[in-house]
Amino acid sequence: MDTGRFDCLIIGGGAAGLTAAVYMGRYKRRVLVLDDDGSRLNWIPRTRNVPGFPDGIEGPELLSRMRAHAAKYAIPTERTRVERLLCLEDGSFQAESAQGRWRARFVILATGARDVEPEIEGIPAALQAGQVRYCPICDGYETQGQRVAVLGRGRHGLRESLFIANWAREVTWLAMATQEEVDPRELARLRDAHVRIAASPPQRIECGVAGAGVRVDLQDGQVLEFDTIYPALGLHHACELATALGARARENGQLEVDAHQQTTVPGLYVAGDVAVDLNQISVATGHAAIAATAIHNRL
Ligand SMILES: Cc1cc2nc3c(=O)[nH]c(=O)nc-3n(C[C@H](O)[C@H](O)[C@H](O)COP(=O)(O)OP(=O)(O)OC[C@H]3O[C@@H](n4cnc5c(N)ncnc54)[C@H](O)[C@@H]3O)c2cc1C
Repeated sequence: MDTGRFDCLIIGGGAAGLTAAVYMGRYKRRVLVLDDDGSRLNWIPRTRNVPGFPDGIEGPELLSRMRAHAAKYAIPTERTRVERLLCLEDGSFQAESAQGRWRARFVILATGARDVEPEIEGIPAALQAGQVRYCPICDGYETQGQRVAVLGRGRHGLRESLFIANWAREVTWLAMATQEEVDPRELARLRDAHVRIAASPPQRIECGVAGAGVRVDLQDGQVLEFDTIYPALGLHHACELATALGARARENGQLEVDAHQQTTVPGLYVAGDVAVDLNQISVATGHAAIAATAIHNRL
């Protein structure tokens, strides 16, 4: 299928992509959203830090409202996974998938990120129950008075443990034997914040255990119980379509941008978790507003 040239292709239809679609629709531009329906919004039991929702809103409900909002401006969406993005000789772009190819003057890449999942039994139900959480910026507030475990290596695990110590009653770092890798001064900060370090690496983690939310069997035979566990194993930022064109990315895969969200590839903009910044809904929507307006001004 070849549908002629759009003003802009939006690759990814989550928080950032759908916000970009609304802005572009209201600027009366010809855009297409290409999305394979894997937004992280789907995993949020209830977000409580999105402006305008004082009692919070379930992630899937927010996603469905954002889709309805974009549909109001008749923005078409193709359910597809973009496999390849090309930059053509005239500086425009072509996106290709198993379902077709589409051309546009500009692209907003809003492909998000994926959490690296630990081996924990029963994760989907545990996410809904708040026994597994991925984002202390989002829901650390909800852990007040709780016993919390952080599963993460080296400096990253240590930092997340310190961050959560701001709220939780007890924090235990499941360091997977990486505590020797961090600066002793940082370990001292952990002690000051009363964060414990598990004596040995976890052997098995189970959620939804009757009477104990999360049960962790350590390799040395100890059994620990928690209300919540935060896996802090990192994120995979879906930057490959851009880096294949030469766009510059940080070591963690987040794409570098200028003040208007343009990457180092002219005409290729990014918004949301795939761009350098805080991984938050409000940030993703802000990026999208900036990128869409910059593109509108160039068309
Ligand atoms: C459990 C959990 C709780 C969270 N809680 C909060 C919270 O309370 N508050 C908060 O602000 N944030 C929260 N977040 C983070 C929030 O979900 C993300 O910051 C936000 O969804 C980022 O929006 P995005 O558009 O960048 O990515 P996403 O919403 O993930 O959308 C990316 C879209 O791109 C699509 N895509 C990727 N690659 C391709 C491709 N090649 N072709 C086509 N489509 C593609 C994906 O399928 C997906 O639909 C939470 C995340 C998780 C996992």
